[in-house]
Amino acid sequence: SAQATGFERRAVIDLSAIRNNVKQISDVVAPAAVMAVVKADAYGHGAIQVAKAALEGGARWIGCAHVTEALALREAGIDAPMLAWLHTEDTPFEAAIDAGLDLGVSGWELERVAAAARAVQTPARIHIKVDTGLGRNGSTMEALPDLLNRASDFQEEGLLRAVGIFSHLAVADEPERPETDEQLAVFNTAIELIEAAGFDLEVRHIANTPGILSRPDSHYEMVRLGLGLYGLSPFEEDTPQSFGLRPAMTVKTRVANVKKVRPGQGVSYGLNYKTEGETYLGLIPMGYADGLPRIATGAPVTVNGRTYPVRGRIAMDQCVIDLGADINPEDFLGAEAIIFGDGGQSVNTWAYAANTINYEVVTRISPRVPRYYI
Ligand code: PLP
Repeated sequence: SAQATGFERRAVIDLSAIRNNVKQISDVVAPAAVMAVVKADAYGHGAIQVAKAALEGGARWIGCAHVTEALALREAGIDAPMLAWLHTEDTPFEAAIDAGLDLGVSGWELERVAAAARAVQTPARIHIKVDTGLGRNGSTMEALPDLLNRASDFQEEGLLRAVGIFSHLAVADEPERPETDEQLAVFNTAIELIEAAGFDLEVRHIANTPGILSRPDSHYEMVRLGLGLYGLSPFEEDTPQSFGLRPAMTVKTRVANVKKVRPGQGVSYGLNYKTEGETYLGLIPMGYADGLPRIATGAPVTVNGRTYPVRGRIAMDQCVIDLGADINPEDFLGAEAIIFGDGGQSVNTWAYAANTINYEVVTRISPRVPRYYI
């Protein structure tokens, strides 16, 4: 039996899983290097801790979306090669060059990066980003020759060095689709163009986790490992374990209240769920402010080795599970309640209940949930 020990919520991050996952993927892609993608606070896992663990596990590069994310890692003492690829007019390019960051360049950033390099009197290292079909960032193939001409001029002035070319895959999580072949063909054409323009490339990279796992021909000199770093699978059919990956995040709390209610008791806002018979309701002190998707009614919470679905709407701070009539409430009050992860169900079950993907569920576990590192 357990007393309620407080309204504790935690995301436990297993850094040995991070190290393991990098090792597993390094073995798959060798001799290609692994870039650990730690944008968005490492998909909610904590960027500084994950970046350090990933480097210990053998990652050679760190990848961020924003320069400001990468600068925070530099400030934490992480001096590995680091790339940031998503910029706006307000991006601190001078600080980025000063900090030795590599910068992705799709087009307009080139002039800004060159001006920043002039200001800090240090050549910038850039990776040319090509849109091979995703339709997001990156130079179109039509605009690429002009971009290369401009980059060539700046390179002659000593303002920058184009050391990489990269792109991003759109449908590699659906290996049967033909567009990945098309993207790789466009990528190879772009590589030929950039090499013909006289650039001496250090790295070519296009593979994300699904590319890494399903397309060896997408590995080139480096792969950008995001989801797989966290031990999650991008494929609907395959578990991470089938690739030797271990999920790193466990979200858990304690049952905050247990009470017996009558048949027909409505549960949570809207009273959409009504208890069938007399039953015990367990109160889970986590809600959408903690990052649990509000629409994930029916998602599983594991208590005392059994799984109970969330009943009724998930509220800001709390949600409710129906424990049934045949329990000893003392066994449940204060018992550990695993939202997902070690000892509970996979994050995919929450993603499924919320009609979203595992990427989103872990990334949105909010700062209100303290991270504990093991
Ligand atoms: N590369 C870029 C440019 C990205 O934006 C991302 C994340 O979306 C990744 C790599 C990592 O992708 P994944 O998490 O599928 O490995």
